[in-house]
Amino acid sequence: MPHITDVNSETDARHYLARLRMVEEIRVMALDPYNFEPRPISEEVLAVMAKIPRHRFVPEEEKFGAYGNFPLPIEHGQTISQPYIVALMTDLLELDKRHRVLEVGTGSGYQTAILSELAGKVYSMEIVDPLATAAADLLSKLGYRNVEVKAGDGSKGWPEHAPYDCIIVTAAATQVPQPLLDQLKPGGRLVIPVGGRMEIQKLYLITKDSAGLFQHKVIESVRFVPLTGGD
Ligand code: SAM
Repeated sequence: MPHITDVNSETDARHYLARLRMVEEIRVMALDPYNFEPRPISEEVLAVMAKIPRHRFVPEEEKFGAYGNFPLPIEHGQTISQPYIVALMTDLLELDKRHRVLEVGTGSGYQTAILSELAGKVYSMEIVDPLATAAADLLSKLGYRNVEVKAGDGSKGWPEHAPYDCIIVTAAATQVPQPLLDQLKPGGRLVIPVGGRMEIQKLYLITKDSAGLFQHKVIESVRFVPLTGGD
C-alpha cells in the first residue's frame, strides 16, 4: 500500500490539512445530539479517511470541494457520497483484515479504497461500465491490490465469491435485494439505504445470526441515488 500520508510538496501538505479538517467535521457531526442516534466513528476509520486522497476520486472541476463534508457529482450523473455518510457506513461494517467484503456501487472508487484499507479483500460492482473501468484503473494506480472491480448489476450480488462477511450498498434500493441477503455469511453485516427516489430513505444495518435469521436496525435518514437494474 502506498504511503499516501507522505507529504512531499506544498500541495500535498494542503490536501493533508484539508483531510484532517474533514475528519474533525465528521467526528463532530457523528456526535451531534440532533442526529438520529449520535454514535462516535471509530478512530481506525477516521485514520484511514485522513490518509486517502479524496481529491483523486473527484472530477477535475470539483477538486476545490474534495474535502468538504458534502456529496459531489462524478461522471455519468452519479455522486461520491458525503464523507460523514461514508464514515458512518464503513464504521457500521466493523471491518477487520480477515473480512471479505462486497460493495455494490463502486462509483468513483473512494469508498472502495477505504474498504481496501480495513478489510482483507474487496469485491466491488458498478452498473455503469465506464465508471467501473475508471475506478479499477485509479485504484490500481494508487496501489490497492486487494480489490476486484466488476461492471454489472450488483443487486444480484457476486455469487462466485460469496458468502461475504460484510456487504455495503451505496445506492438506494426500494427493497433489500434477496441475493444480497443470501450471499451474507451467518454473523455478517449488511449496510444499505432503502427507499424510493421521492421518499425519505432509511439507512439500515442488517445482521444475520448463526441460525440465518436477520435483524434490521434503522440507523439514519439518508439520500442516495437509486439502485438500478434488478430485472
Ligand atoms: N461509493 C461511491 C463512491 O465512493 O464514489 C459512490 C456511489 S454512488 C452514490 C452510487 C453508485 O451506485 C453509482 O455509481 C451507480 O451507478 C451505482 N449503481 C446503481 N445501481 C447499481 C447496481 N444495481 N449495481 C451496481 N452499481 C449500481
